Order: sequence, then C-alpha cells, then structure tokens
Amino acid sequence: MRVTHEQNLLLPWVRCDELPELWRAARKAGFAKPNIKLLTDMIACPGGDFCSLANARSIPIAEAITERYQDLDELHDLGEIDLHISGCINSCGHHHSGHIGILGVDKDGKEWYQVSLGGSDGSTLSGPAVPGKAVGPSFSAAEVPEVIEAVLETYRQQREGGETFIATLRRVGAEPFKAAANGARFSATRTESAETSAA
Ligand code: SF4
Repeated sequence: MRVTHEQNLLLPWVRCDELPELWRAARKAGFAKPNIKLLTDMIACPGGDFCSLANARSIPIAEAITERYQDLDELHDLGEIDLHISGCINSCGHHHSGHIGILGVDKDGKEWYQVSLGGSDGSTLSGPAVPGKAVGPSFSAAEVPEVIEAVLETYRQQREGGETFIATLRRVGAEPFKAAANGARFSATRTESAETSAA
C-alpha cells in the first residue's frame, strides 16, 4: 500500500478478479468513498491539533467542509476541485497549489484563515503550476465553510456546460469569486443588516 501526496491510499497490483472482494472489505472499513478528485478528496495538513509549528488548526476546517458537502450528487455536480489546507506558511498541505487554498494564520494569538483561489499543481486538469491569490483579509474558522459555499455557488452560476471550477475561474476571472467570498464574512452580514435597519 502507498500513501499518495493527495492523502489517498493506493493498492498496487490487485488482480481484477479480486477487486470486488477488496471493494467490499474497503467499504466495510469506511475506505471506499467515491469522491476521488472531488471537493472532499482534499489535502489537509495535521495543523494545530498535532503540529507544534501551526498557526491554526486544519482538521476542524476540513471536517466542517466535509460535513457540509456530504451529498455525493452535489459533489459530482461540482466536479473536480483541488482543495488544499495548510495550518501555517510551511505549506505541508500545499494550500498555494489548490484551486481553493486555505492557510492558517495567527493574528493576535488567534486562529484565522486566508483563502486563495486559482492555484495549480501542474497536473493535466490544472495546467502549469502557479500559486493561488488571496481573496482578501483572513476569515474566522466559522466563516470558512460559508466562504467555500459562496465561492462554489458563484461557480455554479458562472459555469458553461461541463466546465470545471478552475476553467470557469480562469475564464471569468477572480473578481466575482472574491466578491462572493468577502460577502460571506459574518461581519459583512452584520454591517449590512445594521445599515438596512438604519435605512
Ligand atoms: S503546514 Fe505548518 S501546521 Fe501544517 S504540518 Fe506543516 S508545519 Fe505543521
């Protein structure tokens, strides 16, 4: 068995006639989830739960996004997306090369998360390797799933035909995605509500 850099387990040299039995055993053990290359097949470093260098935890962010995106039909509709999470700038989670990257940062001793868009790991799907660009100031942990949802909703609205997330982002440009991400800040919502009430 090998562990890939995408944090999946690869079992080489399985005989074709033994695949069904292997699949049944893997499913029983909770390992046969059909989400390869989809949003929840993400890379996340150990983060603050296990790493003494971390600025923020990665695992609760990965869990919150995974919990939100449980519906396999929805995941397949969103298609192939590289989501990478690092708990600090050492970048073990390769956040910079994710179509969507999340980087844990420390501000005044508290955990915050910078979200970047448009990164590429040089794969066939993503094209030449390039780092993603931050959408704006950092978000709180609670805001991150909302930000991801807002970005993906923008993709759904903007995509043409069977276009992938990264292809839509490149065709349309980052601005509508950035606007959606920044609009998902709780403080932005609160400010808007206050302004609406005052108006
Ligand atoms: S990116 Fe930072 S927090 Fe994550 S494993 Fe590497 S050093 Fe630790």
